[in-house]
Amino acid sequence: MAQQYRITLLPGDGIGPEIIAVAIDVLKVIGEKFALTFKFQEALIGGSAIDATGEPLPPKTLELCKNSDAVLLAAIGGYKWDTLPRHLRPETGLLSLRSSLGLFANLRPATILPQLIDASTLKREVVEGVDMMVVRELTGGVYFGQPRGIFTTETGERRGVNTMAYTESEIDRIGKVAFETARKRGKKLCSVDKSNVLEVSQLWRDRITELSKDYTDVELSHLYVDNAAMQLVRNPKQFDTIVTSNLFGDILSDAAAMLTGSIGMLPSASLGALGPGVFEPVHGSAPDIAGQDKANPLAQILSAAMMLRYGLDQPAAADRIEQAVLKVLDQNYRTGDIMSDGKTLLGCQAMGQALIKALM
Ligand code: NAD
Repeated sequence: MAQQYRITLLPGDGIGPEIIAVAIDVLKVIGEKFALTFKFQEALIGGSAIDATGEPLPPKTLELCKNSDAVLLAAIGGYKWDTLPRHLRPETGLLSLRSSLGLFANLRPATILPQLIDASTLKREVVEGVDMMVVRELTGGVYFGQPRGIFTTETGERRGVNTMAYTESEIDRIGKVAFETARKRGKKLCSVDKSNVLEVSQLWRDRITELSKDYTDVELSHLYVDNAAMQLVRNPKQFDTIVTSNLFGDILSDAAAMLTGSIGMLPSASLGALGPGVFEPVHGSAPDIAGQDKANPLAQILSAAMMLRYGLDQPAAADRIEQAVLKVLDQNYRTGDIMSDGKTLLGCQAMGQALIKALM
């Protein structure tokens, strides 16, 4: 019998509905090929939810997400909602979704696709073959630690305070995700910290080292964050999987993404301890091209592949989608954002059709 999955689709705003439509078509074909049944349920988030219900994350949407096997999100936001108060902004819907689902692990791959290598600002020989995954802790560290605030000292001067804190269990759970991820990839994990200066990093390094005893098939190394930033630009090929805290991961995952030169092609996954993960492109809702059939659907499609690999444990189906993406690029099909001389320009829908053909 076909394996059944309940997938909540959150098209959101801007180009969201256009790119998620392509993802649905692709998943339907994948379902037929791999005997998987996807039961799609669509819900509102972001600006479109504000327009319909007055809230960026309606309770009904959250309920549907919680009762699904995975959530496939497109993007939220747009000019129309930019002036609303913070609690009513589209981004608040996304942040509430992440915290309500307890998504503590953010996985962002940075893979150089051979067909798009010239889009990188680094030399071909430096970036050729780069294929890494940054696993970032998402719900702890300095962005959430207490105390925080701007206080007035005894001398009347203002003092800004944030606290970088991790408990052992917070480190262990992100460490496990990272070791498991490395195991599914090149079996090399680099943990990034600042343990020469920060106690919180010393604890981080101790726990990651301790955990490695359960993952003897994964080669573990440690780097200080300043050195890691340097190595990412000097010799990015040395990395397979990187695990790091919230702040360091925020910075390093953007730097790693830029190595590829085509940030609009990048997917991401956010995973929790229990319950569904959220899979979404790194890019935003691109309001400047919304409704014009110009959007590149490939980051959304690669997010669906991450959903299959990391959310539903269907690696063969994920491989098939990733191969189809490479195939359409080999066939020289390009959307406007990745267009170059001698290639064939396609709109969002036509790119979707090319993908379906490549899957057959
Ligand atoms: P953006 O990523 O939406 O767009 C930046 C540029 O890249 C634009 O020129 C856009 O046309 C282009 N682009 C992005 N995705 C593309 C695609 N798939 N195909 C072709 N071109 C693409 O970033 P922005 O302009 O800074 O933000 C626009 C809105 O998106 C804002 O409201 C912002 O808050 C929101 N946003 C949402 C998310 C999210 O949903 N996770 C992430 C970032 C920004």
